[in-house]
Amino acid sequence: MAVQLQIAEGKIKKYKTVYEVGNFTGDLYYYTDKWVANCGREWKDKPKEGEECDHLDCAIYLAEQQNDGGPKAFVFLIVIAIAMAILLYVIDQRIELVYMLIFPGVITLVAFHILIVGIIAGKRFDELTEYRDKGTINGTKASQIFDVS
Ligand SMILES: [Zn+2]
Repeated sequence: MAVQLQIAEGKIKKYKTVYEVGNFTGDLYYYTDKWVANCGREWKDKPKEGEECDHLDCAIYLAEQQNDGGPKAFVFLIVIAIAMAILLYVIDQRIELVYMLIFPGVITLVAFHILIVGIIAGKRFDELTEYRDKGTINGTKASQIFDVS
């Protein structure tokens, strides 16, 4: 069910614990193999709301991974986008600017998306570790709630 932390005012914050693992096939299609949590649980298909584990450590691990990976993936993709723009120009110097920038442009958008996900994950990582270490989120007392079913 993911980790749910209730802040004193009655507000609930949810933190994902599960992430997808997959591979790129030859034509760069990303194929999702399975969904996993850091505790070792696996799902063949994307777990439905309520099926994810609710381990605080799994949520912290995922936030940390996304936070670490965000800036690295961003730099990597931007380098690829620039290289691709240059390559397209080298292949055909009469290429119109719009065609030269369309694929690099898409990659740049993806890069910014990943960077923003990473920044948000960093904020979540701070909240989760603050809760783990002090029992608070942004200085407000919080408690983990569990669905009873
Ligand atoms: Zn777990």
